[in-house]
Amino acid sequence: MKSWIAAAATLLSGTVLATPAVADVLVDNVEGITPDGKGGVERFEGFLIDPQGKIAQVFHKGDKRPKKVDYKVDGKGRILVPGMIDAHGHVMATGFAKMTLDLSMAKSLDEALSRIAAWTAAHPEAPWILGGGWNQASWGLDRMPTAAELDTVTGGKPAWLTRIDGHAGWANSAALAAAGVTSSTADPAGGEVLRIAGSKAPAGVLVDAATALVEKKRPKPRPEDADTAFGEAQLQFLAAGVTTVADMGTSIEDWQTFRRASDKHQLRMRVVAYAGGIEAMTLIGGPGPTPWIDDDRLKMNGVKLYLDGALGSRGAWLKAPYSDDASTKGLPQMSQTQIGNLMSRAAMDGFQVAVHAIGDEANATVLDSIEELSQTYKGDRRWRIEHAQVVDPADIPRFGRNGVIASMQPQHEASDRVMAEARLGPQRLAGAYAWKSIAATGAKLAFGSDTPVEPAHPFEGLAVAISRTGADGQPTGGWQPQEVLTREAALGAYTTGAAYSLFAEDRLGRIAPGMRADFLFVDEDPMTAAPQALRGTHVLETWIGGRLAWSAAQDGGKAGVRR
Ligand SMILES: [Zn+2]
Repeated sequence: MKSWIAAAATLLSGTVLATPAVADVLVDNVEGITPDGKGGVERFEGFLIDPQGKIAQVFHKGDKRPKKVDYKVDGKGRILVPGMIDAHGHVMATGFAKMTLDLSMAKSLDEALSRIAAWTAAHPEAPWILGGGWNQASWGLDRMPTAAELDTVTGGKPAWLTRIDGHAGWANSAALAAAGVTSSTADPAGGEVLRIAGSKAPAGVLVDAATALVEKKRPKPRPEDADTAFGEAQLQFLAAGVTTVADMGTSIEDWQTFRRASDKHQLRMRVVAYAGGIEAMTLIGGPGPTPWIDDDRLKMNGVKLYLDGALGSRGAWLKAPYSDDASTKGLPQMSQTQIGNLMSRAAMDGFQVAVHAIGDEANATVLDSIEELSQTYKGDRRWRIEHAQVVDPADIPRFGRNGVIASMQPQHEASDRVMAEARLGPQRLAGAYAWKSIAATGAKLAFGSDTPVEPAHPFEGLAVAISRTGADGQPTGGWQPQEVLTREAALGAYTTGAAYSLFAEDRLGRIAPGMRADFLFVDEDPMTAAPQALRGTHVLETWIGGRLAWSAAQDGGKAGVRR
């Protein structure tokens, strides 16, 4: 028996006895809700879990229950839903964010600087000051922060702090010096070194491909630090009701971290990896994707590639110039020929391809490549576009026509809408965060959080998906409300749609015979709760493969995600 199961089971107040490795378990007396796999939802009262941790039978009102089972879990009438699948997250970054300087709560530059000063004072042993989560837009700053400002609180130690979207980094003078970034450093392809106005001197912030200049010089975490970070990440996902996550951009070190956890029976959730580039893909998978291992807890499916940056740092690649900066259309990371070659290299060996595309030009370019490559690479390929944030309405039908999976993050819509209006202007908003229009073309939606960019909180995402409003309930009636999804469609995108995007719809995403018994007890009904109540849903227990993996009672809410 896995030690965490024992620990969890003993702390449950009589709900379940210590579950042995082989047993039939009847979960009964629940208010069960599951996607039915046909676009609707189905309600049920209980189900039987077989010794392999799979669902054997689902019971509706009046159905006969088996007379003899090894264990019974009395749901006490609580609401039960399938485990949520986060189709796009950054697992290790989520864990490391907990262990390094977190600026996501800072509401002004001054507050950020005082947090940095406090962290620096509290960690005299750290060779570098590392962290992230900052967002100059939420500081009311219409410019990026500078190295000179960071120098005032870092006492000469190198400091490197990534922006909330992961597409820019803020260095101080010592970090710029360590990386050899000077006024004679040219902007790398797909990246930009921001300069002090009227000079060539670096100002402190590096965007997209330029971040690699500092990234390759900063100290790398030790494997034992990575193990700690992964433990933190698992706790956050489980507490939020996420039972499976697609890790977008897995390095060989990340993969080894997941494997070490699996070897020690400490892999609690399911992780489906998308390697961070072709080199990592071949290091991890060799000649092709890995099989499912550790009872379907771990698999490497394919590769994650980047075509452009993010809207916030004006890295997203647009067809026409930015509305708030006519001098740029964004930062394409490569040409169409180059992205096509990388996609082809992966598809050749049967790896699934997921391409980050945020701007309308980037989305059109990936769609062009998919249409071209589909001639050569036939069969069930499930090409994924990550984010698909701004799509020219003329290109939207191409998602459905080519069976492209739109891997989108509802929380981004609520966080970005004011910034997106500034960057895009009114004309381009029709194709922005256009979940419903994309789904209407027959394309599959797979929802996720992009954690740590947004908290890995699927119930917050569900609330945004059905309302197009933020935590403050704004804007009234929803932003671009024609894109509001039905509850069935939103729940589907976090379960069956996300499972499909991982080639896992035969085992994950629903409460149905043959599926892995991944489920949650929650305190709100996602089919009826008002958006604000849905957003505040508490996960009470998280079960994976028919075993209790996390419970609020045991955790005391300590791992609760930020709301
Ligand atoms: Zn991402």
